[in-house]
Amino acid sequence: MLVAVSGGKDSLALWDVLVALGYQADGLYIKLGIDGGVRYSDQSLEKIEAFIAARPGARLTVVDVPQELGAPIPLAAQLTRRGQGRPCSICGMSRRHIMNRVAHDGGYDVLATGHNLDDEAATLMGNTLSWQVGYLARQHPVLPASDDGLVRKVKPFFRFYERETAAYALVCGIDYVYDECPYAVGATSIYYKGLLNQLEADRPGAKLQFVLSFLRAKEEEGAFAQAASEVTLKRCPKCGQPTANDGECTFCRTWDRVRERLASQTHPQTQMEAR
Ligand code: SF4
Repeated sequence: MLVAVSGGKDSLALWDVLVALGYQADGLYIKLGIDGGVRYSDQSLEKIEAFIAARPGARLTVVDVPQELGAPIPLAAQLTRRGQGRPCSICGMSRRHIMNRVAHDGGYDVLATGHNLDDEAATLMGNTLSWQVGYLARQHPVLPASDDGLVRKVKPFFRFYERETAAYALVCGIDYVYDECPYAVGATSIYYKGLLNQLEADRPGAKLQFVLSFLRAKEEEGAFAQAASEVTLKRCPKCGQPTANDGECTFCRTWDRVRERLASQTHPQTQMEAR
């Protein structure tokens, strides 16, 4: 099993639980190249290294985005204007691609992430408000592997409130990154979490009921089943990863554009010719 770890409480608590339960769980850290004045990426990796130092046998794979792909995430977002220059869009897309690739190429049968109930409820709220049927069809704590090359994905903490994973980390003495990613400020998901917290304060259990009712509607009433069956994936001719695109996947196209723009900035002659 591969566990995606960010250095935060949820993913480190999940890794700790899986190891304690006897799973051979290896970690994957994707170094995004985010500093934000708090050495966010470096600090996160330091916490993970301290975590594995205390757990002999725990293995970690690090994918260094700036080194491997050519630019840190915030610069890549500026260069492509993807997500209006905010890094979250390219960050999420890149992390999903890298996680699947590392799990697939490493022969792991499952990829686990530390999403908690607050994350799932906020995602569900966002997908529902904008009626993203495709995303709703794929939102589930267990996504099976597919012949197209998607690895099985699980979210074992999806029923736990964020405060519960924080309490677990505290009780077990797990040191984690307290700072949020600096780009989380103003993110829509944080806004939805605030709204859901107000709802939860008035109606305790509302978040859990929201997520479980959605899952029940999918499982018992077949909600979104048609949208799920309509998704056909192909292989990207460049990287071999599954994609809904005809031709190269969004990851390959986006990062090719980043490297082209970087190269044209490095070579002003080329830049002038392009005008
Ligand atoms: S807040 Fe945005 S940039 Fe930061 S880790 Fe999350 S998705 Fe990436």
